[in-house]
Amino acid sequence: MMATGRIPILQPSTRWWCPNCTFTDVTHNSGPHTRFHKCRGLKGLTAPMLMVGVKGKVEAREREDYVGRDIVTRDGDGTPIMSIVTTRDEGQDCTVLAPLAQGSLKE
Ligand SMILES: [Zn+2]
Repeated sequence: MMATGRIPILQPSTRWWCPNCTFTDVTHNSGPHTRFHKCRGLKGLTAPMLMVGVKGKVEAREREDYVGRDIVTRDGDGTPIMSIVTTRDEGQDCTVLAPLAQGSLKE
């Protein structure tokens, strides 16, 4: 029987690493994107990864203002985390963890 499905197209692949744990991954997405993962090194926070070959660091910033009744993102110790900062040679990116943004990431 002949396969009638779409012929798979060779996608570009991007390899990712994490400066805070040993997790690595590969994505096959031609557009600009960042791979996120639940990071053991950041106490279970969903953290951005770095492309293999890019040196940098990823750090969680604690939320400094009064949390009040907001549902905030907390790390594994219950510390409210406001944002995750990625520092690379060419600059910094800030991933803001907005209150209530606790759903699943859509890709
Ligand atoms: Zn990690």
